[in-house]
Amino acid sequence: MKILVPVKRVVDYNVKIRVKADQTGVDLANVKMSMNPFCEIAVEEAVRLQEAGTATEIIVVSVGPTQAQETIRTALAMGADRGILVQTDDQIEPLGLAKILKGVIEEEKPDMVILGKQAIDGDNNQTGQMLAALLGWSQGTFASEIALDGDKLTVTREIDGGLQTIKLAMPAIVTADLRLNEPRYASLPNIMKAKKKPIDEKTIADYSADAAPRLEIVKVTEPAEREAGIKVETVNELVDKLKNVAGVI
Ligand code: AMP
Repeated sequence: MKILVPVKRVVDYNVKIRVKADQTGVDLANVKMSMNPFCEIAVEEAVRLQEAGTATEIIVVSVGPTQAQETIRTALAMGADRGILVQTDDQIEPLGLAKILKGVIEEEKPDMVILGKQAIDGDNNQTGQMLAALLGWSQGTFASEIALDGDKLTVTREIDGGLQTIKLAMPAIVTADLRLNEPRYASLPNIMKAKKKPIDEKTIADYSADAAPRLEIVKVTEPAEREAGIKVETVNELVDKLKNVAGVI
């Protein structure tokens, strides 16, 4: 079984985000970038399927600037076999991205695609679903457990208030939720080995995908600062404040 894992290079989750002064976006100058955490979980799951003898090849693909090669290398150090960089300096929206990934899938013919449930920069949570729709494939989103059962894939999904288990026909799209696994740290020998693994360089034109933007970002602003709290002395005072100051009861 061949697995494709799309991985995105995003601002590291530990970095305190700063909005650009002209409110056109987030300041990326001299900011630490890393693999999107949900993509790490997706890579880890593919590697576990390979270690269990279920998967035979893991290909990682990233659509982004030349530096996204580092993100691909990280996935190769975790255990993926080879990478594809679709080089672009443009910000690609989920629909455009899904169209590019469809092109990659038609060329590579994987049996399963594992994506992150969302990228922590745009918080879109759209790419996996759009890709499944474009391909006409089954989808198991927000997966917290997956198991291959003959030619069917059982996916446990995290839904509001519980877990839902579904059975998918293959080929299938899975999007990884937080509890699917805990990604490994790549060992030094594996980081060295990853340097020799191949990364193909492609462009959007290679897949004849229409990745033109459909959205215009009007403004990006910082969230409002939280106001300091107050201490109350008695329950009566608390009820009074909730009623007459906060207006919540
Ligand atoms: P999103 O729909 O933007 O929240 O992203 C969901 C998932 O789509 C991510 O976790 C990745 O697996 C994949 N993805 C998003 N952007 C990219 C990208 N530029 N390159 C490769 N995969 C991506």
